[in-house]
Amino acid sequence: MRDFSQSNDWLSVNTATVRKSRGQDLPLTDIIEACVRRDIQVISPWRDQVAAVGLNTVSRLVKKYNLKLSGYCRGGMFPAATVAGIQAADADNRQAVDEACELNANCLVLVVGGLPGALAGQAVHKNIAHARDQVLEGIEKLLFYAKSCHMPLAIEPLHPMYAADRACINTLEQALDVCDQLDPGQSGALGVAVDVYHVWWDPKLQQQIERAGQSRLLAFHVCDWLTPTRDLLNDRGMMGDGVIDIPKIRSWVEAQGFQGFSEVEIFSTENWWQKDHSEVLDTCIARHRSVV
Ligand code: ZN
Repeated sequence: MRDFSQSNDWLSVNTATVRKSRGQDLPLTDIIEACVRRDIQVISPWRDQVAAVGLNTVSRLVKKYNLKLSGYCRGGMFPAATVAGIQAADADNRQAVDEACELNANCLVLVVGGLPGALAGQAVHKNIAHARDQVLEGIEKLLFYAKSCHMPLAIEPLHPMYAADRACINTLEQALDVCDQLDPGQSGALGVAVDVYHVWWDPKLQQQIERAGQSRLLAFHVCDWLTPTRDLLNDRGMMGDGVIDIPKIRSWVEAQGFQGFSEVEIFSTENWWQKDHSEVLDTCIARHRSVV
């Protein structure tokens, strides 16, 4: 297993981790400058953060500082209740691929969506099987486009508590079934993002990481699972503060030949987003060296 204890070489910061500093929105340009000052050379930005300061501005900074993107967050949200809704999702996803290409990201992360309307508070139906069919169709269409741009797609299975509103792909096994169906040749164009927060509990995790193999393992996200968890979305823990055996999962991923970045992704309304971003980034660096 790689030694992370001496450098930031394999550390990536998902910029949602410091989207707020002392409770206030922190622009992506400031986040980038703060990362560069700490010799963090890899980031994974969110589309809304990029849009807020402008794609051209971010692209210029990425080139100026020779930054790498471990991923781009995010595409997906494929299911819809109407033809127009499906078409809008498809168009938005192609746009996400274009942005990922402009920023030279390693992959576009896909949070695939759940029951239409559920995220806004009112699902328009209860047919999760149908939503999963629409996800498969959506990824198939997007894969065709992404391949033409040479942008890999990384399906991120989300913890089952998000099945209704954010992602109806909830295990690594499910995600890999989609990969095998749409990309049987393991071309590298379609794979998975393994986020320890979502998959740490899965009794089949090691087995499915082995099934994925190097060609499907496109991204590795770290944070921790707190007990108790106070919020379904925005109470992720800093690595080392929870119950996930992160080094064990990393050892399984690296045993398959994964040599990519370890991306710190923490959403934390009540804790880390209330602290100054300097403290958060310094803590990310320290924990990445000591407990990842
Ligand atoms: Zn993630």
